[in-house]
Amino acid sequence: MSDPYSNMKLVDENGVRLDGRRLDELRPIRIEAGVLNRADGSCYLEWGNNKVLVGVYGPREVHPKHMQNPLRGIVQARYNMASFSVSERKRPGPDRRAVEISKITSEALEAVVLVDQFPRTTVDVYIEVLEASAGTRCAGLTAASVALADAGIPMKDMVVAIASGKIGDHLALDIGRAEDNFGQADVPFGVIPRTGEIVLLQMDGHLTKEEFETVIEMNMRAAMQVYELQKAALVRRYSAFAGLAPGEESEPAAPAAAPVATGPMAAAPVAELGHPEGFKEPLAPPPVDAKVEAVLVEGEAAPEVEGEEVEEPNGDDEASSGGGY
Ligand code: ADP
Repeated sequence: MSDPYSNMKLVDENGVRLDGRRLDELRPIRIEAGVLNRADGSCYLEWGNNKVLVGVYGPREVHPKHMQNPLRGIVQARYNMASFSVSERKRPGPDRRAVEISKITSEALEAVVLVDQFPRTTVDVYIEVLEASAGTRCAGLTAASVALADAGIPMKDMVVAIASGKIGDHLALDIGRAEDNFGQADVPFGVIPRTGEIVLLQMDGHLTKEEFETVIEMNMRAAMQVYELQKAALVRRYSAFAGLAPGEESEPAAPAAAPVATGPMAAAPVAELGHPEGFKEPLAPPPVDAKVEAVLVEGEAAPEVEGEEVEEPNGDDEASSGGGY
């Protein structure tokens, strides 16, 4: 039987994608730090139609004790997709995919957390995907970095993650839901912007060597834009914490011009926050695409993304997720 989706046109003759983006365009992104009272650090992130909440605890004692490392701490990330995060109810609990994503996320974060500063302890990172629309592992890793910084965990930098790939014979930035299902390849990628070190790299599908290199370049450039948004979220957070307007240096201004937000984006109370001093060294700003920053940082409403709601051809199981493994 022929594949009913094989003729799906993911890119039109003008180079426009199903959701109206150009091939080199990111989905809208919003990042908010410090949204949970009980966690040591937290972050809420929207990336296109993805919604991700991260809570960080620690450093704290490792249980079970045999997992303690006397020489360094460990980072334990747990990625979970809520049952209501996809159109069909997802079976609750960890599946093979969640275990894999938790593992690669932990490894990527251990590359930036200064784990030798707190031996025998763990930093626990809980990533809850509230709505999933492709690229959730990257959204989770990006949000987790902000939550760690918000918790004041000593880090050499944050990690930025993004997945680009190939759709309708074109290389495309930041693969969306339908593109993940019906495209030719996607390459989830995580980088430490300060050093350029790649800490996450996966590939699903087929690319030539040249295409692969171009996709990495696309990911790298876009990661620098997302990095600016991560930093802006932390600046807003700590401006509010110190009672300063963003950009202001000493005299407190009341109240801080923190982001106006509703629902889970609402500004968190400041009583139980982590401390920014744990986040070592000021970060040098890389060049940023002004247009993207304007759209994203101003918190402009995310445009409705057509095509993101395309149902999977084979239902709601792991095999149909177009997974990156
Ligand atoms: P990522 O979310 O990092 O792109 P995958 O490529 O494995 O990871 O998944 C792509 C998308 O497929 C997810 O973002 C989600 O929208 C969907 N998906 C994944 N697992 C399931 C599932 N069990 N049920 C329904 N949809 C799923």
